[in-house]
Amino acid sequence: MSTKPSADIATKLAHAGPSPHDYHGFVNPPVVHASTVLAPTLDAYKDRTRPYVYGRQGTPTMSALEDTVTEIEGAAGTALTSSGLEACALALLSCTKAGDHVLVADSVYGPTRRFCDKVLSRYGVETTYFDPALGGDIVDHFRDTTSALFLEAPGSLTFEMQDIPALAAAANARGITVAMDNTWATPVYFRPIDHGVDLSIQAATKYFGGHSDLLLGTIAASERALPALQETRQYLGINVGPDDIAATLRGMRTLPLRLSRHFESGLTVARWLQDRPEVSRVLHPALESDPGHALWKRDFTGASGLFGAVLQPCTDTQLSAFVDNLTYFGIGASWGGFESLITAPDPAIFRTAVPWKEEGPLIRLHIGLEDPADLIEDLEAGFERLAKG
Ligand SMILES: *Cc1c(COP(=O)(O)O)cnc(C)c1O
Repeated sequence: MSTKPSADIATKLAHAGPSPHDYHGFVNPPVVHASTVLAPTLDAYKDRTRPYVYGRQGTPTMSALEDTVTEIEGAAGTALTSSGLEACALALLSCTKAGDHVLVADSVYGPTRRFCDKVLSRYGVETTYFDPALGGDIVDHFRDTTSALFLEAPGSLTFEMQDIPALAAAANARGITVAMDNTWATPVYFRPIDHGVDLSIQAATKYFGGHSDLLLGTIAASERALPALQETRQYLGINVGPDDIAATLRGMRTLPLRLSRHFESGLTVARWLQDRPEVSRVLHPALESDPGHALWKRDFTGASGLFGAVLQPCTDTQLSAFVDNLTYFGIGASWGGFESLITAPDPAIFRTAVPWKEEGPLIRLHIGLEDPADLIEDLEAGFERLAKG
């Protein structure tokens, strides 16, 4: 069912996607497990315009999620992938060829960077990493062969904002395809395609799914970028299992509700951390003190529950004393689920354009759906362990 273009995203998420009256009125789409799709006659089999011809090329389950994402992203169409990383890789593959050059923000998700360095490079595509603080000046880095600009804001490790409209406008003027990993804000808080982006990427593994129980990626495309995206996906044979699609759709119905809780609780914990003597700097664009705050405020309508904090210099033993034995923060990769998480990544190993020079260790927190007061109490006890450490 499609909703009015003017409808709020919460309304869209309650109604977009499935067409109940095509399936006996069931509210949710059928979970179709399929490879073969039978045709009644040989002539019908040869007709490639049938709505469904083969499981990998589409099922009613896939259509329901694709249509939902297309609607909330304001896109021309959507491609599904088996993980968020595959979405980043497919987006780049769809707009590059041997001899091309791509520009990638230095703050980008580490595995996306590895894909550029280890795979695109093998096919003669060169990658340059640029300072995420660049806006319209990105034109100085454009070459005749530049075919793609890959953005992520804020970076999911170091949380620098980017001037998406200025970057996209510069690229659009030269016919360069603009891709953005928008996993942090989701289209609930920022719609890349409205700001000149061609390929809007989500690791649906995170907030779309919302329950840490699946891997999936989505790429919503502008009219201009859609044909190459769909062809490349089809030629690569990318597929997603129907159970994960159904679980993603279920997660998405409550996306705005969950995100507003992550936003509010995340900011509460971030503000509390900002006042702690153990913390040197909190990296969260919704804080007034953050260098990216003005851009965030201009372009985004909210924030997710993921942010960073640089601690005052301390020993590894002190850091472990703080992180280990937290009651509510799991130590683990990924984020966007209902539960709180903590990691202590080292961005210095990735950065090439702008070296990471903080003296103290970085912690990255995902604030889940727990009561923030319980989370603060947990962190406070951690800081006591750190002091004794
Ligand atoms: C997790 C993540 C990805 C990759 O998603 P997977 O589903 O784990 O492959 C891509 N981009 C960002 C920003 C992420 O946080």
